[in-house]
Amino acid sequence: MDRKLVGIPASAGIAVGPVHLLRWEIPEVRHRIIPDDAIRGEIQRLHDVLDRAKERLRQIRERVEATAGAQEAAIFDVQRSILDDNELISAVEELIRQNLGAEKAFEIVMFEWTQRFSRHSHPMLRERVGDLKDVEIRVLTLLLNLPDHDPVDLPKGANAILVTHDLTPSLTVQLDREAIAAIATDAGTRTSHVAILARSLGLPAVVGLRVATQELTGRETAILDGSMGILAINPTPQDIQTYRERARQEELAEAELKQLAAVEAVTTDGVSITLRANVDLPEEADLAARSGAEGVGLMRTEFLVVGRATMPSEDEQYRAYKRVVEAFGGRPVVIRTFDIGGDKLPVGGFPSEPNPFLGWRAIRMCLDQPELFGVQLRALLRAAAHGDVRIMLPLVVTVDEVRRARELLDEAARVLQSRGAQFRRDVPLGVMIETPAAAVACDTFAKDVAFFSIGTNDLVQYTLAVDRGNANLASRFTPLHPAVLKLIRRTAFTAKQNNLDIAVCGEMASQPLMAVALIGLGVRQLSVAPRSVPLVKRIVRSISVAVAEEAAQAAVSAATAAEAEAELRRLLAGALGDNLQF
Ligand code: PEP
Ligand code: MG
Repeated sequence: MDRKLVGIPASAGIAVGPVHLLRWEIPEVRHRIIPDDAIRGEIQRLHDVLDRAKERLRQIRERVEATAGAQEAAIFDVQRSILDDNELISAVEELIRQNLGAEKAFEIVMFEWTQRFSRHSHPMLRERVGDLKDVEIRVLTLLLNLPDHDPVDLPKGANAILVTHDLTPSLTVQLDREAIAAIATDAGTRTSHVAILARSLGLPAVVGLRVATQELTGRETAILDGSMGILAINPTPQDIQTYRERARQEELAEAELKQLAAVEAVTTDGVSITLRANVDLPEEADLAARSGAEGVGLMRTEFLVVGRATMPSEDEQYRAYKRVVEAFGGRPVVIRTFDIGGDKLPVGGFPSEPNPFLGWRAIRMCLDQPELFGVQLRALLRAAAHGDVRIMLPLVVTVDEVRRARELLDEAARVLQSRGAQFRRDVPLGVMIETPAAAVACDTFAKDVAFFSIGTNDLVQYTLAVDRGNANLASRFTPLHPAVLKLIRRTAFTAKQNNLDIAVCGEMASQPLMAVALIGLGVRQLSVAPRSVPLVKRIVRSISVAVAEEAAQAAVSAATAAEAEAELRRLLAGALGDNLQF
């Protein structure tokens, strides 16, 4: 092979295929002066390109409507209306009449519009900036005769490896899963939402490659190894053979692990550990149920919003929740209310903020928009009539938020009652412990909630002040940092004292070594990616709680995450010998 790019493993699996480079960035435009006699032709060229861009949007809209639905497709209507805007077109023509090349003229006008919209007092108009950028990229690409990189522009079965800087919601809705075999991004980490999405879609992915879009031309073939975090460029037939063999081995190992689906997750000293699954898309529910998970420990509901132009109706939400609840029979299904914001944004739906992770997101946004939240709560109470639904609130920092949410839940029940709808009223309400505030003061929640679930992805981010999506900081994102372990221990202890259920649903629980530490810290319920259920079950069945406690104690007493990891490995290697596999 020519070379290997090393990134962060984000979603397991191996794919071999042509690189499809998606550079969704505003291209560079040179200043070009045109003579007077070229003005007419240049204006005509502008109009031809605008027509082609509109035709292109029409095709994309049609395809997105067929694959993702009418509401998602509506995003492209906004972009088309920008291309039809007379004020905008006249301004560009005016600059061309002053002897500017069409691409420079267009760039200048778009710059002015972007400035104007981004400063607008009305949030809905500020949000148009994303659409303006998409339109600008589209038109400049055509004016400059650059290769067109639309992700939808791939034939089905192309088996392509999509290489892009980051996967934004407007790109995500266009992804054709029948054409794309794997995803590679410059940005992102294991816990950023591109990675979570790729795992849900079952697409192998490597993130955090930093320079992939700069180094590649789009004419290469590549092997993407999602387990090792490698993108191997222009492999030789021999390399491909080796990777095919590895892929076969991985499939065999997975088949072997599947045998564990039916056995119990019990430690060697007889303690039962409840293993549940994290579900990001309703379609995943059946796979999760087959993995041997005893219910769902975290159903994320953002899929209903991210990449869409409008919020989903009560009925649509009800159907999505019910589908997952029914896949699990009477087993518990913990559904988290909308955790929108941060890096999980609907298209054009909410104002951009300087610090999104510290901003108006999750429970904050839901409580400030009781109508929007009410729709979700009503859908949840209706779905609860079909099984054991539990409701979980994200990003809480104070018990006031829980109390207010409970008022809104009661209000939702009253509305359903007056409507004569079928629903369940006594649904357990719990909180995610994913901010240092909630962890340190978890006792203040104890009387108001039915359970705690620790979201280590955010807990690590906020405790260590390390952006979970920043590839440059990936090595600093260390769940085994003693501060994090102490917060988890404290939360588990408080839950036990107050007779509350306590689970961990962040990525940490999916990694066998860390799962052992969590058990040692007093956690008895883990919610993990469906594919990790058998992997975690295997380690649970090979250790005793006594060993896990000793290992966790050693890890908490270590001064650094690296020392904690070394301690965990040392103690487990001693206890497990050759059975050690993580
Ligand atoms: C977490 O923060 O750990 C978590 C499980 O939620 P999300 O990854 O969706 O933020
Ligand atoms: Mg979180």
